[in-house]
Amino acid sequence: MPRLAIARFHHEGNSFSPMPTGLDAFHARTWLAGEAARTAYRGTAIEGGGVVEFLDTHPAWQGTFLRMADTTPAGPVTREAFEAIAGEIVAGLRAQRWDAVYLSLHGAMVVEGMDLADLEMIRRVRAAIGPGVPLGVSFDLHANLDPRTVDLVNFAAGYKEHPHTDQKQTALLVLERLDGIVAGRCHPVGAIAKLEAILPSINMRTAEGPMAEIEAFARGLECDPRILDASPFGGFSYSDTAAAGGGAMVFADGDAALARASAERIVAEFRRRLQRFYIALPDAAAGIARALASERTPAAVIDGGDNPASGGIADTPAMLRALLAAAPQVPCVFAYFLDPELVQRCIAAGVGGAISGTLGARLSDSFGAPVSFSGTVLRLTDGNFVNRGPMGHGVPVSLGPTAVIGLGAVQVIVTSLFETANDPGFFDLHGIDLAQVAVLCVKAKNHFRAGFTPICPVMIDIDAPGPAALDIASFRFRHAPPTLYPLQSRSA
Ligand SMILES: [Zn+2]
Repeated sequence: MPRLAIARFHHEGNSFSPMPTGLDAFHARTWLAGEAARTAYRGTAIEGGGVVEFLDTHPAWQGTFLRMADTTPAGPVTREAFEAIAGEIVAGLRAQRWDAVYLSLHGAMVVEGMDLADLEMIRRVRAAIGPGVPLGVSFDLHANLDPRTVDLVNFAAGYKEHPHTDQKQTALLVLERLDGIVAGRCHPVGAIAKLEAILPSINMRTAEGPMAEIEAFARGLECDPRILDASPFGGFSYSDTAAAGGGAMVFADGDAALARASAERIVAEFRRRLQRFYIALPDAAAGIARALASERTPAAVIDGGDNPASGGIADTPAMLRALLAAAPQVPCVFAYFLDPELVQRCIAAGVGGAISGTLGARLSDSFGAPVSFSGTVLRLTDGNFVNRGPMGHGVPVSLGPTAVIGLGAVQVIVTSLFETANDPGFFDLHGIDLAQVAVLCVKAKNHFRAGFTPICPVMIDIDAPGPAALDIASFRFRHAPPTLYPLQSRSA
């Protein structure tokens, strides 16, 4: 019975976030191993769900879940957390001989004092299992991949959809290829080509626009049966590493030249569409004015500059300040601020109690001053719900204790833990019926659309100061090649 080792070390790092990612962040989000992992992942739409489905449908394989760790995108992973998680995975791999290894990475991890953390992780895994054991890796569409990655793995693939509704399918693809490699049915060889640009993710959805066309081109390449996978990568804009920037990875069956040429062809398609990725957005006041004037409701105002799933901190004040300045007379919801101490004060005040203080700029005031408020505690929750939307379907989420604070017509959600409001369950939890809401202000970005397109007929992306703000050239990159577009425009 062939033995498959499974491990996950999945994090998207924002080099400009003031919030480092320690081991406790992984413990609080996904920290699974062994049979508990199998139970937790069964039926979910993420990579672990794909592993369980593969093992159920391929009974010849005996799967062992080693450490499975992920957490919400944030600042760089601490060196201590990296060594702890990588060390545990490597120890598990060294403990016995495996017939194949599946590693679930993001591809845009940033680690304190270490450039190219994903590549380092793959190097350590390869060193642990030796050159002869097939290693398959899955990545996020926002991976910033170093071209040397393909020399260390036998097969790899990235998500093809943004929002990422194909996480499970990507794992299944990698596992099927590993099965084929072990059985001698295929001999993948890969190539990575890089785009000499850092792309903002705002216009990178795969339902429409330039990324949809590039994905369609890649699917066309896969009509050639020799192409085992063609994955375009948009890259993650805020990971300041030497591998920054978009690109493409292609695996072909025994044909390195074909893989190389195909990856270059995808990157050429990126180049042809480069300027379409850089779009302008309204500021918070303009976006909120449009939403308040909308006849179709709820109108969502989406602040990508503080999107927790892009390394935002759920702490920047600009959108709330603009919303309160507009003095809305219709029901509005604001999601959310991360402020565990304020939640505790709300719990002490109780439902119906008066509460005052400040909102935002708790972690950093470099994106604007805090907003003073005086309101009422409307609701308190334990912060637990299960995703019911298409992205991460079935995955339990914990926000820690949460509170809803009423400020006139505005309800503000405050949480104790960190998670983007990308699932309608986030609002069910807080007793909010979005059908009764006129304006929904949310710190989010493209992934929001997966769950809310059926709910919000109007979506207005805005740009406001924050760790994931739109203007990439305004950030001080230190490790990314300064020749990358649009970084060179900063010094020009
Ligand atoms: Zn992503």
